[in-house]
Amino acid sequence: MAIDPTLAYDDDNIFAKILRGEIPNKTVYEDEWALAFHDINPQAPDHILVIPKGRYVSWDDFAVSASEAEIAGFVRAVGHVAREAGMVEPGYRLLANIGKDGHQEVPHLHVHIFAGKPLGPMLMRS
Ligand code: 5GP
Repeated sequence: MAIDPTLAYDDDNIFAKILRGEIPNKTVYEDEWALAFHDINPQAPDHILVIPKGRYVSWDDFAVSASEAEIAGFVRAVGHVAREAGMVEPGYRLLANIGKDGHQEVPHLHVHIFAGKPLGPMLMRS
């Protein structure tokens, strides 16, 4: 079910539990600003989620409230993960779902990295 991105941050969301080490994950990369791990239900041969360490519900919340250092650290972490995974030359896709129409299911900002095959054009299904 899609979440309401205007609500306050929920410390019981699944990614908050992953950050606290309460739920296992297959970590790809971690630094001061971000954690990257494999999606539990991959939609491409390579499907990695990158989340900021801070308590941000969505891209909107992050863009408004995160510090310059958090934003720089998170953006650099996304690029680093893709580069280290060898995705730059073949290419990859980034996606951040926000709210109901974006079908965001987890209320902690996450960027999806998809790669591992030609992903085709981005399609909008009705
Ligand atoms: P959203 O629709 O919110 O953009 O995407 C949420 C993503 O989180 C989905 O792709 C889903 O498979 C993934 N996900 C949900 N729960 C877990 C979990 O416990 N572990 C991992 N690794 N991924 C999860």
